[in-house]
Amino acid sequence: MARINLIRVKDNSYYCNSIFSIGVYIKDNMAVLIDSGISKEVAKEVDKSLSQINIHVAAIINTHCHGDHCGGNAFFQQKYPQIKIFCTETERPFIEDPLMAPICFCGGAAAFEELKKCKPIAPQQASKVTDIIAPYVDQKIFICGETFEIITLPGHTRGMIAVKTPDNVLYCGDAIFGDDTFKKYPILYYTFIGDTLKSFKKLRALIPSIDATVIYHGGLIPDIIPLIDDHEKRILETKNKIFSMLCEQPLSLEEITAKIMQTNDIPDDVISYVLTKTPMQAYIAELQYEKLIEIRVTNGVNRAHLIENGVYHQSQHYLSENIPEELNTIF
Ligand SMILES: [Zn+2]
Repeated sequence: MARINLIRVKDNSYYCNSIFSIGVYIKDNMAVLIDSGISKEVAKEVDKSLSQINIHVAAIINTHCHGDHCGGNAFFQQKYPQIKIFCTETERPFIEDPLMAPICFCGGAAAFEELKKCKPIAPQQASKVTDIIAPYVDQKIFICGETFEIITLPGHTRGMIAVKTPDNVLYCGDAIFGDDTFKKYPILYYTFIGDTLKSFKKLRALIPSIDATVIYHGGLIPDIIPLIDDHEKRILETKNKIFSMLCEQPLSLEEITAKIMQTNDIPDDVISYVLTKTPMQAYIAELQYEKLIEIRVTNGVNRAHLIENGVYHQSQHYLSENIPEELNTIF
């Protein structure tokens, strides 16, 4: 494995020069990590770089539960039994139980083997969260005598956070992806669309008061605003595309996923499939929340049906069985 070096962002705030930009805040001979890498091997390398300069890891703040962010927790917890591990309540079960994420991807039932082994999805070893950040609101936490600000940015996952260090550097996890990831994945992985758009707005308002911004898949970003704009544009394009597809005919989640995978040349493998299907579920739920579609099961197939716009907006109190027959047959 390539050696991991620390890149200084400002004062005591650093990040690792690997494909995972793990945040490192150094105070005296102690480090607070923001996320812990994808695996034991990555964690070991980070620890090696820190040990060489006589620094030990005192705490980890996990921005969210994905395996590439908390996959190094177990290594650090074994090496430093007194370590503090922070995350939000929503993310905790997925960090402590590596089967939770694969089970979620499989509709809440026994998971496919491919998902259990997928490091970016599930940590390969369990770790114990010692400090829960609750309630899920912006707040300050105190570690090693220093104050870190927690900023809620839901959307990529339901309980994701960004972390602002005492020297005003923002580590924003997967709220935004770097250029390479943005270009590589036509469907960006967001699981709550309305929340994502609100988090973008929050991030835009926050940026002018921040000295530097680090994103986990992309590192130090000199100007994050154009990147946020690009992300928002992509999300709205995807949403419009799905809505247009539903204007043609009612479609199931599977059918929408298949069409999106085919039109975007997304490879036919189980991981790519679940990483497409899950955001598709998020878009369908968002369209339902906005009262643009309804969900109906016909002959055992659950499909999203378009609701005739103006009329339905005026009739939001209708229960689905009360929708006039003529509206049901328009599309
Ligand atoms: Zn993630």
